[in-house]
Amino acid sequence: MKIICIGRNYSLHAKELGNEVPEQPVIFCKPDTALLKNNEPFYLPEFSQDIHHELELVIKIDKAGKSILPQFASKYYSQITVGIDFTARDVQSQLKQKGLPWELSKAFDGSAAVGHFIPFDQKAESIHFELEVNGQVVQTGDSKDMLFKINDIIAFVSKYFTLKTGDLIFTGTPAGVAAVKIGDHLNASIENETLLAFDIK
Ligand code: ZN
Repeated sequence: MKIICIGRNYSLHAKELGNEVPEQPVIFCKPDTALLKNNEPFYLPEFSQDIHHELELVIKIDKAGKSILPQFASKYYSQITVGIDFTARDVQSQLKQKGLPWELSKAFDGSAAVGHFIPFDQKAESIHFELEVNGQVVQTGDSKDMLFKINDIIAFVSKYFTLKTGDLIFTGTPAGVAAVKIGDHLNASIENETLLAFDIK
């Protein structure tokens, strides 16, 4: 399985990092070794002093497909959860300066924390999601604010990558990204239902 991620999919987050709002989705991938599940703890890696949380809606692909049209994309997923796209911001800044790929800052072990999946309500016009760190709300998002909607993302990425059952798509973070530290407790929810809760060690 593979993990496909969208960068800069909420304009307020693009602005908080000083990035332009993109004309087409910004895509990067994480290997399966990045997956962190079952509320297992996240261990801060030694190579970074600035690991950020990025709260994101995550969908699971449940049917293989290639070059999927947007109007058929909804047939390729039925479950959603929240995840954290952990990012070594100091490493990423250096890579961006040099115009290099982001993998070292984004695709390391444990960098894709994924919650418990729930059925995706295709009729929902907006999905509210939230991250608390140590009981304080630090990120809130709503799917209606996505620059590229889920079906458009699937159509776009499936032109390049064949999607397979079990693949995950991280759909981008809203504003409010910040560093985590040892001892932090993260709690992420959709519509106030906690789907992911774990500790930073
Ligand atoms: Zn992200």
